[in-house]
Amino acid sequence: MNSSENTIPVYPVVIIGAGPAGSTATIYFQREGIAPLLVDRETFPRDKVCGDGIPMKTFNLLTDLGFDEDKLFRHGYKIHQLNVYSPDHQRTRFGNLKRDASTKSGCIPRYVFDDLLFQKARQHAADVWLNHRFESYQWEADGTMRVTLVDLTSGEKKYVRTRLLIGADGGKSRVARAAGLLQKNRTHRFDGLRQYFTGKTFDPTVHLIYDERTLPGYVWVFPVGETRANVGIMTDRSVRERYGKTIREVFEEVLATNPDVRRILDGARPEDEIHGAPLPLGSLPGPRIADGVMLVGDAGAFINPVTGGGIYFAILTAREAARIGSRAVREGDTRKPALAEYENWWRKTILPGFEYSDRLRWWFKDEKRARWFLNKCSTNRIFANFFIAVYGRPLPKRIFWNPLFWLKILLHRG
Ligand SMILES: Cc1cc2nc3c(=O)[nH]c(=O)nc-3n(C[C@H](O)[C@H](O)[C@H](O)COP(=O)(O)OP(=O)(O)OC[C@H]3O[C@@H](n4cnc5c(N)ncnc54)[C@H](O)[C@@H]3O)c2cc1C
Repeated sequence: MNSSENTIPVYPVVIIGAGPAGSTATIYFQREGIAPLLVDRETFPRDKVCGDGIPMKTFNLLTDLGFDEDKLFRHGYKIHQLNVYSPDHQRTRFGNLKRDASTKSGCIPRYVFDDLLFQKARQHAADVWLNHRFESYQWEADGTMRVTLVDLTSGEKKYVRTRLLIGADGGKSRVARAAGLLQKNRTHRFDGLRQYFTGKTFDPTVHLIYDERTLPGYVWVFPVGETRANVGIMTDRSVRERYGKTIREVFEEVLATNPDVRRILDGARPEDEIHGAPLPLGSLPGPRIADGVMLVGDAGAFINPVTGGGIYFAILTAREAARIGSRAVREGDTRKPALAEYENWWRKTILPGFEYSDRLRWWFKDEKRARWFLNKCSTNRIFANFFIAVYGRPLPKRIFWNPLFWLKILLHRG
């Protein structure tokens, strides 16, 4: 080892990516007494292409992270109603603007939301390196990993040593690639586009519009404030095979011609350009751990295969990775068997729900089936309640054998 090797900084944990997953992991590792190095190739605040929709269950996790729900909503919009539209323009409504004042979910622009999380996380990190890109890592003879980062300001390569690398670097994760995990797979991927609209008053209602051209995905209108909405599309490549058009072309066509979308956006105008990002879906097979490596959030493809929702899972998986990873660090063994509890945990608690959602995605691939199911939801409350119970929730398999689950579906009034 030469003298420069001796000066390589050592951290017990290195977290790549300071989005919701990486920021959450930083906070929980520190709570376990292990302050990590947090690295991101960007500086904050930064934009992230997303629908900005934050499901209610996420707020419980955010409270534990030290956030106050009401304060968070100063930066966004509380949502009281969800409308789902079928390709035949049948509407299914969940929640009620007048009757139900309780919050069902919320929308907060990621430019703000991620910065709030990051600013909290930076207080819990041993060090924060922004504008640094993760390149690769290699195991050294002393049982540590040497991580290569590139300083994007100077172009200079920098090195750090660690025993545990957390891949929280999003849907195109380099950490996953470097560890030989989760190879690209088009079958388990959505592509998403987003554009902000402004210029009219939006109800606190989120809209999911299933148009035959967007299947198995949908177009959404998520208000992030009284006069601003996040509008986007997520779907898969089959759109190109079916229509010979890009997802962007389909998006523009749906915005211009779908009567539901036109009505919702009537009087609004685009505020910015269309931006895109991939969504690796949770049905993607393969382990999320390797020797010394744990994947969290999008890096581990923890995205619901039918809704495209991933913020909740990013925070949840980061919390669990910190709990299990910190024990491995303390015990001085971060090889794969010592991290297996994390793999077992997500397979038991998250995967069954993803499998159900993936079946719904498969069902929505067929236009006739999607029409039938979504039309049925609009006229039959039992179908609607089943849809919303399965849609976007990590339901364990055993719940389907529980009579109470079915009773709630039968009796729930939306
Ligand atoms: C179009 C679209 C709409 C969506 N809508 C919703 C929605 O409404 N609700 C919802 O819950 N989810 C939604 N999602 C999913 C959601 O955006 C993700 O699940 C969420 O961002 C995951 O957070 P993360 O921290 O894992 O990754 P990210 O938020 O992507 O953060 C990753 C971080 O890693 C950094 N990074 C990347 N590569 C490197 C590198 N090599 N070195 C250093 N740093 C790196 C990036 O700069 C970034 O800050 C949507 C996704 C898309 C694409």
